[in-house]
Amino acid sequence: MTKPVVSVVKFDDAYQSLRRALDLCQGLGDLNPGDKILIKPNLVSWDFDLPFPPYGVVTTSAVMWALVRVLAEEGFTGITIGEGPLMVPKTIGQAMYKELGYDKLKEKYGVKLVDFNEEKFVKVDCNGLELSLAEKVLEADKIINVPVLKTHNQAKVSLGIKNLKGCINRASKMFCHGKDIDLNYTFPHIAEKLPVALTIIDGVFSLAKGPGPTGKAERFNMLVASRDILAADVVGAALLGYKASEVEHLAYFAKRNGGSVDINDIDVRGEDVEKNAMFLDYDWEWTGDNTGPVGYAKRGITGLAVRKYDNTMCTGCSMLFNPVLIMLMSAYKGEPFPNIEVISGKVQTASPGFDHTVLFGMCPYKLNKDNPNIKNAIAIKGCPPDLREFEKAMQEVGVACDYNEYVKYRHYIFNRYKAEEGFDLGLFKIREA
Ligand code: SF4
Repeated sequence: MTKPVVSVVKFDDAYQSLRRALDLCQGLGDLNPGDKILIKPNLVSWDFDLPFPPYGVVTTSAVMWALVRVLAEEGFTGITIGEGPLMVPKTIGQAMYKELGYDKLKEKYGVKLVDFNEEKFVKVDCNGLELSLAEKVLEADKIINVPVLKTHNQAKVSLGIKNLKGCINRASKMFCHGKDIDLNYTFPHIAEKLPVALTIIDGVFSLAKGPGPTGKAERFNMLVASRDILAADVVGAALLGYKASEVEHLAYFAKRNGGSVDINDIDVRGEDVEKNAMFLDYDWEWTGDNTGPVGYAKRGITGLAVRKYDNTMCTGCSMLFNPVLIMLMSAYKGEPFPNIEVISGKVQTASPGFDHTVLFGMCPYKLNKDNPNIKNAIAIKGCPPDLREFEKAMQEVGVACDYNEYVKYRHYIFNRYKAEEGFDLGLFKIREA
């Protein structure tokens, strides 16, 4: 059996490194210059109000620039870049492209910049799951997938297969975080349906406790490339310290599509994976009795039980859960909280014995609105919920949550990279194509 080829190269000069990665795995081998190419970076979110450290969160513009330059040199003319970022509450795709300097790619190479959220979606039977895929994705002859080398607090790793979740509409994303079918068994169906000809994992930075900016990034300096999306992910997972067999969605994809999750079944060319691997935690540790992050217990917080989020919580709520944790932690002034439980997602139910129950989001509200265990419901009903509403509701029951504490935290996580070598924001801005 021919082994799939994956190249692993050190990142120094973006163009040279990418060229080398593509040469080692013959990365352009399944592409023809006449093809309509869709490049799918990972631009899951951005924040135009608060400081946003993009390291390990979004694909670097340096790699995107190098890729478009290579394609242009090889005679490709029909290039589109497409993404469907998180709606906050409106879509921000075009604003992100501008922020990242993609307009230079448009000017010089005629690259089309598409925000899937502004376009049509088409219902597609993804081998047993009906999902709405962006029409622009379906129109492409070939897809080049450019995820980031990062961990994910629900999926363990977020690499090539996971990155394609950005090609479906909001309703389908919510469906993927369903209550009857686990997340890890939904989004791999998307990759099965799409003509992904090349996966380039951008490991200029890697990210622990991803996928968002509250994770901790490392300067990792590595590019992974392959014509085989699963093989690329197996190697990417290994670089993050995970055996692919222990990553549910990779094992599921391999089982359905006949691939292997054993790195020994891959022809790895370039750098040694084991030598370059760096284990990065994917999740926050919770107390054994599920009352909150271990950090809460260490600080002596009592009277509060924040139930651990599960895979039914979709990205909208997920991005807000960390702010909630920060606001609750900063509200602790040495006194016990007034016996509060916080629940989220689509399956958590209120426990008896609490004086107040926070229903964080429309989903727990709908599920628990008639739950007899609840004495006083604090329903933050949005989809996703509103942090200011949460702040106000908590203050009404005597908990001094302050959104400004979260703002301070955001400045802290942005500023902590300033002293670290290699954390160059210039890698996220194309100034000259
Ligand atoms: S309330 Fe939260 S978990 Fe429920 S659908 Fe909306 S964003 Fe997803």
